[in-house]
Amino acid sequence: MADIFTARKRSEVMSRVRGRNTGPELAVRRVLSVGGYRYRLHRADLPGRPDIVIPRLRLAIFVHGCFWHHHRGCRKATFPRTNATFWTEKITTNALRDRRDRRRLSAMDWRVLVIWECQTRDTEKLSRRLRRLAA
Ligand SMILES: [Zn+2]
Repeated sequence: MADIFTARKRSEVMSRVRGRNTGPELAVRRVLSVGGYRYRLHRADLPGRPDIVIPRLRLAIFVHGCFWHHHRGCRKATFPRTNATFWTEKITTNALRDRRDRRRLSAMDWRVLVIWECQTRDTEKLSRRLRRLAA
């Protein structure tokens, strides 16, 4: 079968599928860079492979999509009506896994910060939040 994507486009598509290097995540990384924080990405040796880790603060950051990780009370956190069972199960499983990963990190003395996709647009607020954690 012919590959309809160029290599670059394909890797972009795949990274979106895996939920890495997404727009919201890049927005958080920009705020961190501007704030002078040193961070590492996707540390596979930590539970849940946190999107961003700030070693100095022992802080693990997850940048979650509101739909996929079910941001409670957010208008993006819907359960689609088509294939309802599939989606409900899928999203619920994600949310349970997220909680398990957060607990494991806490047990390892990591602080955990969840930044929802819908919170990444207000970069001023985001950087205030990070400064508070760094204090
Ligand atoms: Zn949200």
